[in-house]
Amino acid sequence: MPELPEVETVMRGLAPAWIGQRFGRVTLNRPGLRRPFPDGLGQRLTGAVVIACRRRAKYGLVDTDRGDTMILHLGMSGRMRLDPAELLKHDHVVFETESGRRVAFNDARRFGSIDLVATAEAEHHPLLAGIGPEPLGSGFGARHLADVFKDRLAPVKALLLDQRIVAGLGNIYVCEALFRAGIHPACPGGQVAAIRIEALAVAVPAVLEAAIAAGGSSLRDHAAPDGTLGYFQKGFQVYGQAGNACTACATRVERIVQSGRSSFFCPECQRQAEVGHPQRL
Ligand SMILES: [Zn+2]
Repeated sequence: MPELPEVETVMRGLAPAWIGQRFGRVTLNRPGLRRPFPDGLGQRLTGAVVIACRRRAKYGLVDTDRGDTMILHLGMSGRMRLDPAELLKHDHVVFETESGRRVAFNDARRFGSIDLVATAEAEHHPLLAGIGPEPLGSGFGARHLADVFKDRLAPVKALLLDQRIVAGLGNIYVCEALFRAGIHPACPGGQVAAIRIEALAVAVPAVLEAAIAAGGSSLRDHAAPDGTLGYFQKGFQVYGQAGNACTACATRVERIVQSGRSSFFCPECQRQAEVGHPQRL
């Protein structure tokens, strides 16, 4: 599933093609994806000028001069194909600007979605309501993490994946950030040492920014006929590295399952805190 950096990369890729441009034609090749498309989607977009392409959590938001915001979710397999030479089977929605740019929303598994809401109401839409601060925004930091971790018995990993606590973090980047901060993924939130929270507040944006930078350099892939929105596989230090040597200490990276999802960590660099024993720093 595309994570925050992939969505950020897609929106940054769409921005130069769309911002300031008027949609000339929007073609819906099926009635919906995960859900039916909103009534009048094509009509409301056709003739509208895009004034912003942005991201909130894992959603792409496209604001128009008609006061509408299109909320895009890439689902499991969704990708945006920029100026494709030809259309493919799963190009379910095709956006054409009057200036001649064409973007195809391709989604083979159809877990993606498109919603259209009044811009003023977007943050209250059920997909976005109650979402926590953006990890790359000013509302995120050590103070916020300390507040939300305080007295919590839930594993720190579960807390970071909770969208009400931090927006848009997924499994891959939580694993990577916890490694950088030296925090065991099963450590209860309330037992993470203050110095580790400080490290985590730095690590979370750092791993996301690194991924966005990696994606940014491959943006032109979106223009290829088979342009695939993939994960930025290079550079993961623990994610998917079970059995491999930790890049910091050479201990073997381990994998555990938490709430049905894999957590990867270095048992030496990320020591589990025990009740009554201060976490080793
Ligand atoms: Zn290690």
